Amino acid sequence: MAEKHVNYFALQKACEKPGCPVCRIIDERIHRYIDGMLFEHISDRTFRAQYRESGGFCSVHAETLLTYRDGLAVAILGQDTLGAYLEDFRKKKMRKYKYPCPACGEQYRIEKEFLTFLTEGNGDTAADTELQQFFCASGGLCVPHYAQLVSLKGRKIPEWLSSFQEQKFQQLMNRTSRFIECSAWGKQKEFSALSDADKIVWKELAATVRGGIQPD
Ligand SMILES: [Zn+2]
Ligand SMILES: [Zn+2]
Repeated sequence: MAEKHVNYFALQKACEKPGCPVCRIIDERIHRYIDGMLFEHISDRTFRAQYRESGGFCSVHAETLLTYRDGLAVAILGQDTLGAYLEDFRKKKMRKYKYPCPACGEQYRIEKEFLTFLTEGNGDTAADTELQQFFCASGGLCVPHYAQLVSLKGRKIPEWLSSFQEQKFQQLMNRTSRFIECSAWGKQKEFSALSDADKIVWKELAATVRGGIQPD
């Protein structure tokens, strides 16, 4: 029997929590990435050069960086970025950055790794059956991660995964239609008959369409 892959255990753990398991893994790993960067790379010339060539963090990851309350690191990195902008402003010509935000680059690498793992499985029937079971008991992939999976080149999505995801999205679609219908004027009675979860289905819909995780 093949050993269970390290990604298998990471997925299993993420599937026990609410929301999209890949978003959950990304959240954890990106925090770890930024944490590691703050401790090891902030004074590393190669990292700083790459950071400059990417134009710094995107707004989402710049926000994440701020949560570490490491003012010196924010100042050092921000100075690089602002310095490059100042040069461009003087020349009245904006440079084109070669690389994406370093944390987005890392995020994309992790997403690809886990989505590919989902299409391949663990390579062992017993473990794959278990994987299907815990995955199908989870919140499933968010729309952006399922869309990314569908566009993975040269990958065939296993039948169990596509039917699980599409059924889940279809149910959400039906519940949303019902919510919209019952929100119409004069339908107060129908609306109050909706379940508590259906009364706020728009929250679930927003999280599924947008991706990301809700704090525990
Ligand atoms: Zn996701
Ligand atoms: Zn980013």
